[in-house]
Amino acid sequence: MKKFYIHTMGCKSNQFESSIIAENLEKNGIAQTKKVEDADYYILNSCTVTHKSDNEAMYLLRAAKHKKNKITTIITGCVAQIEKEKLLENEFIDYVIGNNEKLELYEVIKSADNKHCVASDIMKLNEFTKAVLVDTSKTRANLKIQDGCDNRCSYCIIPFARGKSRSADAQFILEQINNFSQHGFKEVVLTGIHIGLWGKDIGFTLLDLLKEIELKTSIERYRLGSLNPHEITDELLEFLSKSKKFCPHFHLSLQSACNKTLRSMNRHYLVEDYIKQIDKINSMFDLPFLGSDIIAGFAGETEKDFRTTVDNLSKSGLSKIHVFPYSIRQGTAGATLQDQVEEPVKQMRADIIKALSAIKYNEFINKNIGLTRKILIEKHPDKKTGMLKGVTDNYLTVLINSTDQNLLNSMQKVKIVKYKNNTIYGEWDLYRSLH
Ligand code: SF4
Repeated sequence: MKKFYIHTMGCKSNQFESSIIAENLEKNGIAQTKKVEDADYYILNSCTVTHKSDNEAMYLLRAAKHKKNKITTIITGCVAQIEKEKLLENEFIDYVIGNNEKLELYEVIKSADNKHCVASDIMKLNEFTKAVLVDTSKTRANLKIQDGCDNRCSYCIIPFARGKSRSADAQFILEQINNFSQHGFKEVVLTGIHIGLWGKDIGFTLLDLLKEIELKTSIERYRLGSLNPHEITDELLEFLSKSKKFCPHFHLSLQSACNKTLRSMNRHYLVEDYIKQIDKINSMFDLPFLGSDIIAGFAGETEKDFRTTVDNLSKSGLSKIHVFPYSIRQGTAGATLQDQVEEPVKQMRADIIKALSAIKYNEFINKNIGLTRKILIEKHPDKKTGMLKGVTDNYLTVLINSTDQNLLNSMQKVKIVKYKNNTIYGEWDLYRSLH
């Protein structure tokens, strides 16, 4: 029996799609292996968000060929979509498969010759390609509801790798969610490249979809992927604050907390409005988790601009900030700007924001100590201790004082008792969970 090894880089959409690839291959009699040496096919589902991830992709493919000369190497994902045929010039790459084609990887490889590139023009795609996956080994089900992006943020290459925004229809989404809940899932995460654009191409809004999910699905709770600030309308917030299924966990993309930098990033909002929105969310929900992304050292970001970003972030009610040093992506408007920031400066700025994020996250965790929250106990106990672990509605991973296997994959009330050595501890008891 032939075997494949798959490595996934990047976002939740890529992770979801890798599971689809694995399922497609397994259905066709090719088994998954965790060892490159045992594999006949090495599949890399790549990410091109930074030049570092591009380099990593090449390194991994070269290393796979080095480990096993006869292995067939396949690169798919965003690097494959952007670079296409050019990649075949590398002796360590056998196939290049586009983002849309990867969902039927077995069929594509079967009908293609060796040293082949199969990546159609993704900008021409107008419809969402449906893909379904029920991976019962996971506690949370991921459902991709949208692909592509219509925005042109000047630092971002993703729209060229993923195409125009395309939405799955509501009927399909509702069916999938109900299917997950019939398979025992309690929670679903709605993912996509830019889920705030869900519905735009088919005449609906994200709020329309969430109302349907509330009424017509039996799932106990759901989370939303990343949203842009202007997509969180008052109406949407009002609805979410009353929802019985929505987890108070927001990821609100920011990228810079300085208006001048936001303008040159082609992001259409003001940092003052963003901060007000965060305050509003904090006042409407019960200790919501509020995550964000920042790019440090975008072209033209002066020391003063960076200080403005740090000041604004410090006073914001965010719980955690993901930070990336700006990476120049050829083909984007940002790459043509003259005043690029030196690499060590970008890294230093990223480190400063990382430290600020650690303080904010610490504060957020401490606010939760002493509270009782609803936790979905993971299907697999903690590997090191054997103790149960779970994730709260507001996105904290908690180690629980029990090894009772009957509680696996159940929703329980757990008291958060302490935070020590980067671990959050919780106390479960039957009385608490019943009341
Ligand atoms: S919204 Fe901007 S950052 Fe996000 S995928 Fe679209 S272009 Fe990229």
